[in-house]
Amino acid sequence: MLAIATVHGDERGVAPVGVELTTVPVPDGIDAYVVPVANPDGWARGTRHNARGVDLNRNFPWWWWHGDGGPDRASEPETQVLMSLVRRLRPTVTVWIHQPYEYVSAVDPRAERWARAWADAAGLALVPPIAQRGGGESWTYHGLGLASILVEGTTREASVGETSAHRRGFEALLATI
Ligand SMILES: [Zn+2]
Repeated sequence: MLAIATVHGDERGVAPVGVELTTVPVPDGIDAYVVPVANPDGWARGTRHNARGVDLNRNFPWWWWHGDGGPDRASEPETQVLMSLVRRLRPTVTVWIHQPYEYVSAVDPRAERWARAWADAAGLALVPPIAQRGGGESWTYHGLGLASILVEGTTREASVGETSAHRRGFEALLATI
C-alpha cells in the first residue's frame, strides 16, 4: 500500500501525520510506502500550491482542465514523481491524505472496506465516492484503475489528536489488507 501526504502545503497537520505513519509497524506480508511531504516547496512556504503556483491536486491527467491545474496535464515535477511512484508500485490501495473536510471517501467503490476501517478508527465520516478534476486520488482510480481512497482530516493545523487519529486509521487499514 501507499500513503501520500502534503500535496497541499497549507494543510499543516498533514506532514506530521505522514511522518507519524512512517513509524507504524507493518504486518508481515505487507509492503507499505509513505510519502510524508509530496509538495516540499508548498510545505516550506505554507502555501496550497507548489512554487510555480500550481495546485498539484488539479494537475493530474484525469479530467484535467486549465483552471489552477497548471499549464498542461501533469506539467509539474511533483505530479510526475507521484505518478511514476504509483505506476511503479501499483499498490493494492493508495491513500491520499488531506485536510480539513472531515471525511474519508472510497474513490474506488471496491476500496470501501479500507476507507471504512480508516474512518471508523479515526472518528471520521465515510462519504460516497468523490471525483475531483485533476486530483491524484481520482487519477489513481479513474485513470489507472487502481484502488484509491481520500482521507480528509479535521483541521488545517497540526495536533496530537489529529496525528494519533490518522495513526489509528492507518493501523486499521493495514489490519484489513
Ligand atoms: Zn488538500
